[in-house]
Amino acid sequence: MSKIVVIGESREGELRNVTFEAVAAAKKIDADAEVVGIICGNGDLQVQGEEIIRYGADRAVTVAHEKLENYTSEGYGQAVLAVIQDESPDGIVMGHTSIGKDLTPKLAAKLGTGLVSDAVDIGADDDNITFTRPIYSGKAFEKKVITDGLTFVTIRPNNIAPLEKDESREGKVISKEVDITDIRTVIKDVIRKATEGVDLSEANVVIAGGRGVKSDEGFKPLYELAEELGGAVGASRGACDAEYCDYALQIGQTGKVVTPDLYIAVGISGAIQHLAGMSNSKVIVAINKDPEANIFNVADYGIVGDLFEVVPKLTEEIRKM
Ligand code: FAD
Repeated sequence: MSKIVVIGESREGELRNVTFEAVAAAKKIDADAEVVGIICGNGDLQVQGEEIIRYGADRAVTVAHEKLENYTSEGYGQAVLAVIQDESPDGIVMGHTSIGKDLTPKLAAKLGTGLVSDAVDIGADDDNITFTRPIYSGKAFEKKVITDGLTFVTIRPNNIAPLEKDESREGKVISKEVDITDIRTVIKDVIRKATEGVDLSEANVVIAGGRGVKSDEGFKPLYELAEELGGAVGASRGACDAEYCDYALQIGQTGKVVTPDLYIAVGISGAIQHLAGMSNSKVIVAINKDPEANIFNVADYGIVGDLFEVVPKLTEEIRKM
């Protein structure tokens, strides 16, 4: 039986959904694998350890330290590496999030192994496990096979469904002490922007505004629609550059990558750099007054019209449902 460790990620004391997706990914790699969750942080991590087990892990190892209160690649690098060296796993899975993108290449280098990043699907061809990942800004997909060494993978959030939570599932939560030294980065304060409500990277519905929204005031109807649909608001870089919203909302090649069930692009032209961050969304709706806008080439449904009329009408109709 193989052993796969899942590096958990939490925000404000709660494990992020992508952690549970990573557990499901580990089971896709090897249905019989022993899955060990690694959870780092400060304070009591028992509850998070139990939570990852309820989502399919067999046991959890927690590393609590005051220097792990906030993520730093040095602190988390030392903690996670110590657990990996203890466990000697056959595989490692983590979410392809900002933290995952920062931490996993560092770990791969330390472990002298390769890394398949940003997998959106895990399947099997003949006797090999295949990892499908987008390339060329999402214009094509490639399948990777790991032939040697550790199976080290990051998975794109919202693509691999988590296993059903089993409240009765039990396993050991072991706390490990790691001496965290040599941290050159000291986080003095964390100022969160645009994180109220649903987390953009994990949202099932995203309403994104572009330069066509014309002002920060113009984003208000998008927030109202997002609230009705239980979604998050995102933006194109055009809107961020124009200071209509914060860069934390930017979606695209140099922003966040999202894969919601529903993506509504409002007043966004559909530049290739924007498509790189959203074209794998399950259903794409575009609202644009220009029928020739490139966004319609990737949209499943298109509404040609003035967003200032269309968005409030849409919200009104949804409220009636
Ligand atoms: P525009 O292209 O100006 O489009 C505005 C749209 O709104 C138009 O289609 C117009 O028809 C429509 N519109 C206007 N008024 C209305 C109305 N009343 N009703 C309905 N529709 C209306 N961009 C990103 O988004 N994300 C990235 O990560 C990113 N990274 C980049 C990296 C690099 C290296 C470079 C060079 C560029 C990057 N860009 C990125 C920028 C990208 O090339 C585009 O400039 C940007 O996406 C355009 O934003 P937009 O679609 O909001 O604006």
